[in-house]
Amino acid sequence: MLNQYSQFNPSLIFMEVTNACEYQCLHCRAESQKTPSPEDLSTQELKNTIDQIITLWGKEAEIIFTGGNPLMREDLKELIEYVAGRGLRFGISPAASEALTPEFLSFLREKECSMVSLSLDGGTPATHDWLRNREGSFADTLALLSAVRSFGLNVQINTTVFMRNVHELPDIAKISVDYGVEAWEIFFLINTGRASGVKNISSEEYMDINHWLRTIRDKGLNVRTVEGPIFRVMNGIAKDRPDIVNGDIFHELMGNSKSLLDSIKFNNKEAGQGSFGGTLFISHNGDVYPSGLFKLNMGNLRSNFLAEIIMNNMKYLGKNSRSDLKGKCGSCKFKYACGGSRARALLKFGDPMQFDSMCLYS
Ligand code: SF4
Repeated sequence: MLNQYSQFNPSLIFMEVTNACEYQCLHCRAESQKTPSPEDLSTQELKNTIDQIITLWGKEAEIIFTGGNPLMREDLKELIEYVAGRGLRFGISPAASEALTPEFLSFLREKECSMVSLSLDGGTPATHDWLRNREGSFADTLALLSAVRSFGLNVQINTTVFMRNVHELPDIAKISVDYGVEAWEIFFLINTGRASGVKNISSEEYMDINHWLRTIRDKGLNVRTVEGPIFRVMNGIAKDRPDIVNGDIFHELMGNSKSLLDSIKFNNKEAGQGSFGGTLFISHNGDVYPSGLFKLNMGNLRSNFLAEIIMNNMKYLGKNSRSDLKGKCGSCKFKYACGGSRARALLKFGDPMQFDSMCLYS
């Protein structure tokens, strides 16, 4: 392991092994297509990348196979065997498709997969199926949640928050509890890829939703956030500025989750992360980004070693980069614990160091 990389130590490295997927979801970051791209990294290129990850960070990092639908990759088992054989932990984020067979789940258990993440973007079939662009996918997802659990695998629900599903968040929280998920990960929509046209929530809703999520997190449901780093400091925000986190949506969500909060004894696990939380995203064609939604292209693995890419972009990676934040994030007392969404700043201002335009705190 090389010491100069110690200030950036990603805990999760997402490998988008393909952008092919049977689904064509309306909010797809990957802008998935039905068939594999000729630009997909080859089996050998992916194995070389895994070797480089181990050289840089040892066996600390966890690889998450994502897509598109990683199950559409014919060599997926070979790649998983390679990662597991090198002693790295791995998880997988598949689409809820027929390819997630009992035989494959058994293989994942045998290779000690740490987490299977399934997306659930609505508390009702109407909303989820609409966003996933496929009738029946809500029911398919619930069936797969049960199947994954029945194989003794850890399961996580991923939910992207957008205008249409805000009122269904308590329903998804209940499903998370009912199915005994290890984590409920909330993605705040970044209007990138196919999500460019999806209606996003307002700043007021963003603050209220994070306040509600923090409240249920403190009750013990293992909530994590992506591009919602204010979640980490929400208790401090609520103390300083109760006027900006107790709006109508907060009260509605609290009211609609009251029986859940009263009746369930949750597990109490770790809090969430944002785009500076130590992630790396390797896209299907070898482009490297800080995270899947933080569209800062740092270089390509076909023309640079991973070490070069990291070194050339250290100013954007890791907590040290927060000393250079601009605007109200730069002067905020929470800039190291929160830091704002860099993905949102890049999209809004073309500058990843600018302030987070969703935040109402000052
Ligand atoms: S101003 Fe920036 S760092 Fe401070 S709470 Fe808001 S988003 Fe976080």
